[in-house]
Amino acid sequence: MRRILLISICLLVLLACTSQPKIEPFEKTKFMMGTIITITVYDVNKPRDYVEQAIDAAFEAIARVNHLASVYNDSSEISLVNREAGNRYVEVDSNLFKIIQQSQRFAELSDGAFDITVSPLIKLWDYHNPNPRLPSQEDIQQALSFVNYKDILLENNRIKFKRPGMKIDLGGIAKGEAVDRAMSVLKKRGITDAMVNIGGNLSAMSSKLTEGKRKVWVRHPRQEGRYYGYFTMDNGSVATSGDYERFFILDSVRYHHIIDPKTGYPATGCVSTTIRAQNAMLADVLSTTVFVLGIEKGMQLINQLEGVEGVIIFEENKRLTDIVSTGLVGKFFVEDK
Ligand code: AMP
Ligand code: MG
Repeated sequence: MRRILLISICLLVLLACTSQPKIEPFEKTKFMMGTIITITVYDVNKPRDYVEQAIDAAFEAIARVNHLASVYNDSSEISLVNREAGNRYVEVDSNLFKIIQQSQRFAELSDGAFDITVSPLIKLWDYHNPNPRLPSQEDIQQALSFVNYKDILLENNRIKFKRPGMKIDLGGIAKGEAVDRAMSVLKKRGITDAMVNIGGNLSAMSSKLTEGKRKVWVRHPRQEGRYYGYFTMDNGSVATSGDYERFFILDSVRYHHIIDPKTGYPATGCVSTTIRAQNAMLADVLSTTVFVLGIEKGMQLINQLEGVEGVIIFEENKRLTDIVSTGLVGKFFVEDK
């Protein structure tokens, strides 16, 4: 018997077969950051009230990140930056400043594959329209003229854009950062065995109770509700980026939400990228970055980074197949291609 703990958009975690009695975790789910968030705590010997308060505090930490980084909320700090930073330096919360600094680090590392200034391009690709259409070449060229991470100026918690019209989008990093903040709250409160999952960006920590039993299942990219494969993980973070998250199909071509900042079009090559790393922010950024870099360069980056592993699923001769990083060889089990 396997006990299902959680179903997320991209990743599923199960506790493996066990003859021990069922573990009854504390769990709360909310809809925030445009996705489903679940916090699960397995410290079954702690008082219920105490654990519930810890979970509530973790949700508050997530809400704080959302208030800084959500482009869907007009009163967020990032929305203020997007309105004003084309004209003047805008002072921001030091946590938002750090998220932007981290984004810039990965932009440098990936030679601009990860680039938070993609916002004008994201707006062109109209995923929410029931009758989607392709942006014109002129629109793409026009939007591309506002895309370049090197044109973000950062100094002492202040941010300015070199050109009015630039905007930033933290959709490739904010969920990971929020998972880390929530985990940190749980740890500070003495929780030892838990999982935080924000729409497929997750972190886990294990005690003796769950050690060796947590399987992270990677979603099947083409079949809703099915899972492609799994690896086990006691402690650490995982994120998946996939071309099935937000997309439309026109003339049999799939146009999705992960944009190659060099072309202005959705990145090609990968179908999904799953990254395992020391923290959720890193896993989140790298899943998006590797997706843009493509199979070869993406896997090269994963293998060169200490403590980072990954699985790339892609299509070959119209069939799904995968490649895993050196540390996952023999440890990623494909169940359903
Ligand atoms: P994820 O699902 O973590 O891969 O993040 C995808 C989101 O990141 C998109 O919905 C955009 O908000 C943003 N994004 C898309 N392309 C890029 C890119 N090349 N660099 C940085 N962020 C991106
Ligand atoms: Mg990501």
